[in-house]
Amino acid sequence: MFDYLIVGAGFAGSVLAERLASQMNRSVLLCDKRPHIGGNAYDCYDDAGILIHKYGPHIFHTASPRIFRYLSQFTGWRPYEHHVLAHVDGKLVPFPINVDTVNALYGTSYSPAEVEAFFARVAEPIKHCRTSEDAVVSKVGRELYEKFFRNYTRKQWGLDPSELDAAVASRVPARTNHDSRYFTDEFQAMPLRGYTRMFENMLDHKNIRVLLNTDYREFMNEVSFREMIYTGPVDAFFDFRYGKLPYRSIEFKFDTHDREVFQPNAVINYPNEHDYTRITEFKYLTGQEHPKTSVVYEFPRDEGDPYYPVPRPENGELYRKYKALAEATPNVRFVGRLATYRYYNMDQVVGQALATFDQIREATLDGAAVTVAA
Ligand SMILES: Cc1cc2nc3c(=O)[nH]c(=O)nc-3n(C[C@H](O)[C@H](O)[C@H](O)COP(=O)(O)OP(=O)(O)OC[C@H]3O[C@@H](n4cnc5c(N)ncnc54)[C@H](O)[C@@H]3O)c2cc1C
Repeated sequence: MFDYLIVGAGFAGSVLAERLASQMNRSVLLCDKRPHIGGNAYDCYDDAGILIHKYGPHIFHTASPRIFRYLSQFTGWRPYEHHVLAHVDGKLVPFPINVDTVNALYGTSYSPAEVEAFFARVAEPIKHCRTSEDAVVSKVGRELYEKFFRNYTRKQWGLDPSELDAAVASRVPARTNHDSRYFTDEFQAMPLRGYTRMFENMLDHKNIRVLLNTDYREFMNEVSFREMIYTGPVDAFFDFRYGKLPYRSIEFKFDTHDREVFQPNAVINYPNEHDYTRITEFKYLTGQEHPKTSVVYEFPRDEGDPYYPVPRPENGELYRKYKALAEATPNVRFVGRLATYRYYNMDQVVGQALATFDQIREATLDGAAVTVAA
C-alpha cells in the first residue's frame, strides 16, 4: 500500500513526491507514461553528445526566493540571462521591442524619452483591450504589430490575434529603454548539469518509487494507495465527458551542425517567414563547449502532445465544468499545467506544487489536532 499515487513526473508531480517523501515520510508511487522523468522540462544528450531540451527550450526564471531556494537543494546553477532576436525586414533586432529595436528598424537614433513619444504617437487608443490585437496596437501601433506580432501569433496559435484573449500578447512588454533581456525576474539561471539531473536528485529518496512507460490506468486497480495526485490533462481524467479541451502543440525538428556556432543568438524568432516560429541553439542556454552544435526548429500544430491551452473565453468555460468535477472527486488533487488547464511557467508550477504540499500538511496537522482533542 502506497500513501500516494502521483501521476506525472514533471515539475508538479516530482516536487510533490519529493516533499511528501522527505518532509512527511510518506510512501509515493510516481508514474509517467513517458520513458523518462522531468515532464516537458526533460533534457538529454543527443547523438552528437550535445545537451538538448526534448520538448523545446526551457529557460528558468523566477521572482520568488522561496522557489529558487527550494530547487537549489537539488542543483547548482549557471547564471544565464535570456535574449531573443527577431528577423524582421531583413534585420536581426532585439525582441521584446525596445528603443534599439525601433532605431534599428527605422534608422532613427531615438533616446528612451523620444521612443516613448514615438509609441504614444503611433499607438491606437482602445478603451477596453479585449483581444491580443487590441493589446498590441494600443501599445506600439499597427505597423509594429504587423511586423512582430500578427503573423507570429497566427503561426503559433493558428488564430488571428483578434481571436485571442488580450492576456496572450499582454505578457510581451514594449520597452522604452535598452533592456534586451527576455525576462526581468530577479533569479535567472539554468540548472548546472541540466534539468534531468536535477529531477534525479529530487526523486532519489527511499520512499519514492518511479514507474516509467506506464499510464496510470494500466495498474490503477492493482495497486492500493490512500490518495492520488494527478498532473495529467484534466479532460482525459474524466474521459472527455464534456468534450476535449483545445491545446496547441508543437512539432520539434532537431538538427546538428558540423560547426561550433550556428546563429548569433540563443533564439531567433521568424515572425514573417517560414513555417517554423523560431530556432533555438542549445549551447547558448547550457554553456556546453563542443565542436558541433544542435538547434531546434518549432512548427506549431493542432495535433500532438498537449502543450499550450488555447486562451479563449469558451475554453475557459469548458475548463470550469471540468474543474467542478475535479473539486467533487474525493481523494484526488489536480495539480500542474495540464490538470488546471493554464499556461504556467516552470517556477509557477513549482509554486503551485509547494502550495498544495502546504495544504496537505496543514490538513494532516489539523486532523492530528482533532484526534488528540477527541
Ligand atoms: C515549448 C515549451 C517551452 C516552454 N518553455 C518554458 C520556459 O522557457 N520557461 C518556463 O518556465 N516554462 C516553460 N514552459 C512551461 C513548462 O514546460 C511547464 O511549466 C512545466 O513543464 C509544467 O510541469 P507539469 O508538471 O505541470 O507538466 P508536464 O511537464 O507536462 O508533466 C506532466 C506529466 O504527466 C504525464 N502524464 C500525463 N498523462 C498521464 C497518464 N495518463 N499516465 C501517466 N503519466 C501521464 C506526462 O507524460 C508528463 O510527463 C514551456 C512549455 C513548452 C510547451
